[in-house]
This record gives sequence, structure tokens and C-alpha cells, in this order.
Amino acid sequence: MSIVRDSVVRFHYRLSGEDGVEIENSHDSEPVTYLHGHGTILPALEAQLEGRGPGDSFSAQLSAEDAYGERDETAVMRIPLKNLVYAGKLEPGMIAGVQTNHGMRQVRVLKVGKFNADVDANHPLAGQSLGFHIEVVEVREATEEEISHGHVHGEGGHHH
Ligand code: ZN
Repeated sequence: MSIVRDSVVRFHYRLSGEDGVEIENSHDSEPVTYLHGHGTILPALEAQLEGRGPGDSFSAQLSAEDAYGERDETAVMRIPLKNLVYAGKLEPGMIAGVQTNHGMRQVRVLKVGKFNADVDANHPLAGQSLGFHIEVVEVREATEEEISHGHVHGEGGHHH
């Protein structure tokens, strides 16, 4: 069957950056599993998967805007150390948590001072156009239960 709304899709991907250098791929682990049409993966990628079937492979180039957004320089900020949540010793390059009005947000630590740290709350892939190479592995119909929950159950999905 081909991919339509409420298909359960499994696919492998290779992701590369603007320079064509591979950032990550799924081939060493299980394929990605998602419920099509529910906005659980990048919408621009979901649109490219529409109508494909098992065994199909294709490449898609996503603009930064269609991927993880443009960088927001106001998301680079100086915040008090006491507002950061982290394990061990706070060092540049590590990911820490910050409690915000919208819940815990992950930030990358740029610089650590005595009382404050400079952090970057942008997604690590923000501001980059991304190249995906996708191989569709499996397509099946979702169960009623999966559709009502908005996610996949069983292999590659939720267990509850
Ligand atoms: Zn569920």
C-alpha cells in the first residue's frame, strides 16, 4: 500500500547538512516509525512521503525554514547558573535544561561564568538547509486505537 493519512510508516534515513556531510543516519538502528498525517515528523518531510510505498527511496532537500527554522539570535542569552538544570560539572558544549513558562527547554552551554552562563536555545540544526535520503521500509494501516492515540503502538512505537 502507499502512504496516506493514518498509515503507519517505517523508514530509514540519512541526514546531511548544507555542505553535504552526513550528520546522522538510522541504518545502524531500527527504522523510524511514525503515524502519517499527524504532524509527528517534520511537515515538509511528511509531505514528501505522501503516496510513496515500501521499497521507494528518494532524496529531499529542506530549507532551514522547512526543517528546524532559522537561527534566532535572541535565543542566545545570559542566564543565572541557578536557573540551569544539569548533571555533573557545567561546561561549554554541554546540553542543560532551563525551566521556562512552557516547560523545560534544552539549551547548549556556550560559556560558563561565576554566576551566569551564556546559552543558546536554538535547535542544533536551526539555520541549516538539510538533505534527507529516505528509504521506505514498511507501510501498514494504523489500528483504530493508534489513530485515536495519535501514535504508533508495538514495534518502533509506544508500549502501554
Ligand atoms: Zn497509545
